[in-house]
Amino acid sequence: LKKEIQRSEKLNTLGELAASIAHEVRNPLTVVKGFLQLMQQEEKGKNYQYLSLVLSELGRAESIINDYLNFAKPKFEKIEEFTLNEVLVEVVMLLDPMAAKQGVQLESELDSTGFTLVTDRNQLKQALVNLIKNAIEATPDGGKVSVHNKSDCHQASILISDTGKGMTPEQLSRIGTLFYTTKDKGTGLGTSVSLRIIETMKGKVSYKSVPGVGTEVRMVLPGSQTPVLVNL
Ligand code: ADP
Ligand code: MG
Repeated sequence: LKKEIQRSEKLNTLGELAASIAHEVRNPLTVVKGFLQLMQQEEKGKNYQYLSLVLSELGRAESIINDYLNFAKPKFEKIEEFTLNEVLVEVVMLLDPMAAKQGVQLESELDSTGFTLVTDRNQLKQALVNLIKNAIEATPDGGKVSVHNKSDCHQASILISDTGKGMTPEQLSRIGTLFYTTKDKGTGLGTSVSLRIIETMKGKVSYKSVPGVGTEVRMVLPGSQTPVLVNL
């Protein structure tokens, strides 16, 4: 038992160290990006064409750092009340062009209970975007990704299913591990970030997957607790 405690303390310190390095690296990146954007506006010389490439790679580095920082310490900045359905509609709309580009049909079937949540809406959106993006990326041309939800008064469950390539038990056991990826340009951060966000919302995520058939991600979120009135 003691050994385990020491190990988790060590991991924690390493995580904090990485987070502070990520944070420090982000500042010069932002400065460099700003100057390059200026150059792109003014300089139409022979290296002009490289600038957009450099800027897009910088953008990639920036989003890796932001994802990592969000994983290390998710910031719930603006807590508000909203319905789950409105967020699901937004997320599906946001990802529609990406699905269409890949020839994947993205469909949603939302329930009508008007389940409400009180949390950071942008964090929930981020968590959903990462998981639905993965579903789309795993699905070949002509396949389907569907987003369903069902709620009762205590909790909502969201089901994201795809007809994609699926995962072997070995792959499934590694999902959500920081930096685990099977993609050429993957970062292995998306799932970790999503799981961390949902965990912060006291929710749960589970996976079911069959290689060659598809994957089902089920997310369960507790509802906003009704405030209890005391001393009335
Ligand atoms: P990335 O998308 O950058 O690779 P993620 O953390 O989002 O990182 O996902 C990690 C890995 O999990 C992916 O590379 C992929 O192998 C696997 N994965 C995640 N979702 C699915 C899915 N719906 N179907 C098949 N594989 C998946
Ligand atoms: Mg991903």
